[in-house]
Amino acid sequence: MNILVLNCGSSSVKFQLIETDIDTIEKNADKRLAGGVIERVIGQALITLHAEGQPKVKIAEPLHDHKSAIDYILRWIISPESKITNINSLADIHAVGHRVVHGGEKFTMSALITDEIIEQIEDSIELAPLHNPANLKGIMAARELLGPGVPQVAVFDTSFHSTMPETSYLYAIPYQLYRRHRIRRYGFHGTSHRYLAYRYRQLVGINREQVNIITLHLGNGCSACAIKNGESLDTSMGFTPLEGLVMGTRGGDMDPSIIEFIRNKEGMSVREIDTMFNKQSGLLGISGLTNDMRELLAEEQEKDDRRAKLAIDIFCNRAKKYIGAYIAEMSGAEAIIFTGGIGENSPIIRERICKGLDCMGLTIDKKLNSKITSGKEGEISTGDSRLKAFVIPTNEELLIARDTVRTVKNVPRRW
Ligand code: AMP
Repeated sequence: MNILVLNCGSSSVKFQLIETDIDTIEKNADKRLAGGVIERVIGQALITLHAEGQPKVKIAEPLHDHKSAIDYILRWIISPESKITNINSLADIHAVGHRVVHGGEKFTMSALITDEIIEQIEDSIELAPLHNPANLKGIMAARELLGPGVPQVAVFDTSFHSTMPETSYLYAIPYQLYRRHRIRRYGFHGTSHRYLAYRYRQLVGINREQVNIITLHLGNGCSACAIKNGESLDTSMGFTPLEGLVMGTRGGDMDPSIIEFIRNKEGMSVREIDTMFNKQSGLLGISGLTNDMRELLAEEQEKDDRRAKLAIDIFCNRAKKYIGAYIAEMSGAEAIIFTGGIGENSPIIRERICKGLDCMGLTIDKKLNSKITSGKEGEISTGDSRLKAFVIPTNEELLIARDTVRTVKNVPRRW
């Protein structure tokens, strides 16, 4: 089956076209046919398109909403110019898989999209006001453009974490708040953590239930996950993606009393403070320079910038703290897995996070570590490390495509 994977953000649409099927999944022989991104979907859009084996195409074109962006992608996919093999008309797109950020407590697995499922995703909008509306726009647009004959599947960022026990997901606030409003920790980046668990089990040749690892997704958004016996036991993002690790523009864990204090001292509204915690904090907030780790590393190295160094140190220290906490919570782990733009590409950050973890049996092999960048996969710990470390480039789109096939063919699987 040819699966169109859509990831609609508030101002962007990312896509991949992946050829896969049940037997293809078993053989690990899925094929990425094309991919790309449309940024600034409202206005002068920046369009990047890439068919496998062809050069990347970059175009600027006025578009006015998510629907026109998806229409643009579909027309490109079936056009002769894209040169995608075996795709000649919309009938060659057999199903669509959508990334949906929040599935609330209802969705523990991916779901075939019906009117009822759309209503349930709408119910979760109040939990993810920044993300779910854009995901829904993508679903509605794809339904309109491809018609009711093409099945659509929602794959939720939260589903993988639905195995977390109450001890991980409940906040220690009055229990009625959970009962009345479902205020609890949900966790995000679930498809990425799930992919890492899947790929790790393949790399070391073990069964799903034998996977005991700590996964670190370190990109612009960052989260950690404790995966015990193949299931999410705990994760660092919470009610929203704000909790946990230090991220590009989000500060992660902090004392909620700060909100009232800032409100009084700075005369800011709660909404303004929330925006500040989401958009002006983290690496950007501490450094006062940028949310981009590459730029911060350059500032630190070339200009000895104190606050760039401080931002990086706080980022690494927080990640280290979570590794320690999860090892205790899991009663030991086999490996730490790095992914995301920072986790995949920065040997120095991986080394700084793991520094001092010899006490837990982890020693980084500097030579191996330095060699793994730009999409490479492999082990970065020494042969005699009791706790191993790996880099595995994430591939959420692949799991979305696979879940789409399994859901459409009614052979669902958790991962
Ligand atoms: P993502 O959200 O996964 O695309 O990750 C974005 C983050 O990865 C940004 O902070 C980038 O600066 C960072 N990043 C990408 N390449 C590198 C690199 N070579 N070294 C350090 N950070 C990097």
